Amino acid sequence: MEQNKDINQFDIPLAKRTYLKNPYSILLKKLLIFSPFLLLIFSTAALRLIRNLEAGPLRNFVFQVEKNYDHRVLGHLPYKEIPREKLVFIEPNIEVHIDMRDSLLKMREEAKKDGIYLVFLSGFRSINLQKDIFYSLKSIRNQEAAERARVSAPPGYSEHSTGFAIDIGDATQRETDFETEFEKTRAFRWLIKNAAKYHFKLSFEKDNKYIDYEPWHWRYEGSIEALKIFETANRKLQI
Ligand SMILES: [Zn+2]
Repeated sequence: MEQNKDINQFDIPLAKRTYLKNPYSILLKKLLIFSPFLLLIFSTAALRLIRNLEAGPLRNFVFQVEKNYDHRVLGHLPYKEIPREKLVFIEPNIEVHIDMRDSLLKMREEAKKDGIYLVFLSGFRSINLQKDIFYSLKSIRNQEAAERARVSAPPGYSEHSTGFAIDIGDATQRETDFETEFEKTRAFRWLIKNAAKYHFKLSFEKDNKYIDYEPWHWRYEGSIEALKIFETANRKLQI
């Protein structure tokens, strides 16, 4: 017994050495040594995978929020009424934002030099006036609000409330005032070519899916205040 015990004791280190020479054990040892690095590689890869999986739907979600929650009503964006002290008369019956007056009048002067006679039809409109226009015309034309909204903004949703919108006609073709036919006038062709120089932009183009094409309706984007006001509208047009 005594001898056996000694042999056993002697055998254990031998067995250990044999065990360590086993190719599997070497692999295991190597794995153990490299495990922190492997763990790092795997976790980085896993993180990337998760991030990619999440990023797709998340991006779509953010896009959807922007698309659906921009507070449109019948396709129109909300606009605040400009304080009266920022308004100036450019005609006996037309007021506009003081920031756009000079540019607007300069545009009319320059057009005149080219033999084009622009006429201003409508500038600032208070929310109350817009209310009258929207509801009275709706009942006259026997139209549903949604139909009416294609040609007129609901109160609180008109660019005209900002003072930065102007409806323009051709003084030589007044029958085209507020009509799609305005696009056939020389005034319109001149505006398409030159209005951007004076920071005016067509608000409702032909491809607007909510609102009818309004070739007579232009908005001013030549000041930071105006750019901020129309930022959402511009973002939507790019989508
Ligand atoms: Zn207008």
